[in-house]
Amino acid sequence: MTIAQMVESMAGKAGALHGHAQDSTPFQFSEENTATDYFGHQLRKAGYNYFGNEPLYSGITGKEFAADIFMGVVHYQRLRHMVNDKFQVRTTGPVNSLHGQPVKGRAKGGGIRVGEMERDSLIAHGAAFLLQDRLMNCSDAQRAWLCRCCGSFLSTQATVTATSAGKAAAAVAVAAASAAAGQDDQKQQKQRAGAGGVGSLVRCRRCAREAVFEDSRAVVWEDGNGRRYVGGDDVTVVAVPGVLKYLDVELAAMGIRMKFLVDN
Ligand SMILES: [Zn+2]
Repeated sequence: MTIAQMVESMAGKAGALHGHAQDSTPFQFSEENTATDYFGHQLRKAGYNYFGNEPLYSGITGKEFAADIFMGVVHYQRLRHMVNDKFQVRTTGPVNSLHGQPVKGRAKGGGIRVGEMERDSLIAHGAAFLLQDRLMNCSDAQRAWLCRCCGSFLSTQATVTATSAGKAAAAVAVAAASAAAGQDDQKQQKQRAGAGGVGSLVRCRRCAREAVFEDSRAVVWEDGNGRRYVGGDDVTVVAVPGVLKYLDVELAAMGIRMKFLVDN
């Protein structure tokens, strides 16, 4: 409460008791002629305490309080901002279809933005895992195929196998090939599982060469348009923010290539 509100309390109380409106023009009083005295006289005339104090009684014991309490009448406006209209929570919810980040807006059940300033605070605290959780895991984290050879998201693609017999043969051949090469077979299995079942492998079109007649059927893979390739199998899955891939695509449209160096 400010001094002006204390004066207003006295003025309001005196005005209410006498039934007249007070003049609230500023700078009308001085050190010699104080507002407290002006309204104090009005209060005393109405039979009230000169300073606006009133005796109150305990609601528990019924006894009068030792100290009088300053009371008055004031005009004030109530805020219409209510907690119920403002509170916002979200675990999961609607996301933007373009980049996979949560939509904004309380009405839509959107996310609560961690902006640049919040990000800076977390960096200043060294809260790296919290940063990753907010900016990636709880936002647009996704698994994406990446070619380790050329470092590109954009040139990886799921392969297509013409017949189911061919599928099984290809799967067996790939397993045999990786075992023979002493590679980790789990990687290949993960590829099959990640890309939707046995036979559906992911390859890098950019690092592959077109198949020729002499190529073994075991190493040849086919894209969706009936073209056959060999190679481009040094691909892996990485966890990235979805918007990173979107950025990659936009930059590619401007003739800028992003290259990601990934090692295990
Ligand atoms: Zn590649």
